[in-house]
Amino acid sequence: MNNRKEIFVTRSSMPSYEEYCEAIKPLWESRWLTNMGEYHQRLEKELADYLDVPQISLMVNGHMALEMVIQTFDFPRGSEVITTPFTFISTTHAIVRNGLKPVFCDIKLSDGTIDENKIEDLITENTVAILPVHVYGNICNVDAIQKIADKYGLKVIYDAAHAFGEKLNGVGIGNYGDASIFSFHATKVFHTIEGGAVVCKNDEIYEKLYNLKNFGIRDEELVVSVGANAKMNEFSAIMGLCNLTHINDAIAARRYVYDTYRRLLMNVKGISLFDEQADVNKSYGYMPIIVESDYSLSRDELNLKLREKGIFPRKYFCPVTADHVCFKNRYRNEKIDNARKLAEKILVLPIYEGMEEYDLERIISLI
Ligand SMILES: *Cc1c(COP(=O)(O)O)cnc(C)c1O
Repeated sequence: MNNRKEIFVTRSSMPSYEEYCEAIKPLWESRWLTNMGEYHQRLEKELADYLDVPQISLMVNGHMALEMVIQTFDFPRGSEVITTPFTFISTTHAIVRNGLKPVFCDIKLSDGTIDENKIEDLITENTVAILPVHVYGNICNVDAIQKIADKYGLKVIYDAAHAFGEKLNGVGIGNYGDASIFSFHATKVFHTIEGGAVVCKNDEIYEKLYNLKNFGIRDEELVVSVGANAKMNEFSAIMGLCNLTHINDAIAARRYVYDTYRRLLMNVKGISLFDEQADVNKSYGYMPIIVESDYSLSRDELNLKLREKGIFPRKYFCPVTADHVCFKNRYRNEKIDNARKLAEKILVLPIYEGMEEYDLERIISLI
């Protein structure tokens, strides 16, 4: 019963065992396993090149990247941050754990990103920032969002966890807003097992990030500020360096899967797909479909049917973060109808490098 193998929503890309072992060998000589070592520094340089940004700061994971970059802006406690509820719970946690209030803005059904036309209505005298998400690698309307931010003097921080390596009109996506964070979790397009990074506009923010991620230590006897520990270790950095050598192949392989899904699902009655963004170079981290009411099954029924066959799609993001028990009725969320509607119809299908043609065809034909 070989065809009973389980197919999950994603599968980590990895270098060959030999390649990774060869790459980590020097660590047995140097015994320098963390604390901004050689490989940490190399990965920061190579990633800055790849992402087409001036510099980056590596972090222990994407969530801490987001928490810490928010912290560097020193917003007054209780200030409001306009954000999307249609995201991984991490985005909202990062705001709340900074002592700030998320104000949930609705999304566009065409691509799942924050609706830039609904942001201004939510701005009050307590608003300090906008925190949009390039959900599924669909890029937000960065120009319109920047205009609003400039008009009201707000910071813009992007959660770009889904948009590794993406470009908008040829420009690396990390160049927009005041800062962006990436996640290098094992389930993401590019990973360092666990890891993440911040990209930002100004050197002062990098200084603060360095202090925050390393206990504020600048010298053996000099601690300049209160900090935590959010450094990336050398084993992770080396996994990143290995994965980066293969990243273009990994993305090309995902692209084939993505294009095949879209081509063959486009005409299935009751299945809708997001609009393609012609000016974006995607990295194909996710394959979302929208199960409409005229499909032969409900979204939940389709999900269960696929699970019975050993295929495990995910209902990213259902429920929306504003409706989880930890946030429900605590923050402004009165007008997020599109987000809630999409959460009831969304299903994210398996997509990863090395997905077998047979499995891909089987999932498509089942749907
Ligand atoms: C994965 C993810 C994060 C968190 O990143 P980790 O590296 O898992 O901490 C944050 N936001 C979004 C949208 C994500 O998908």
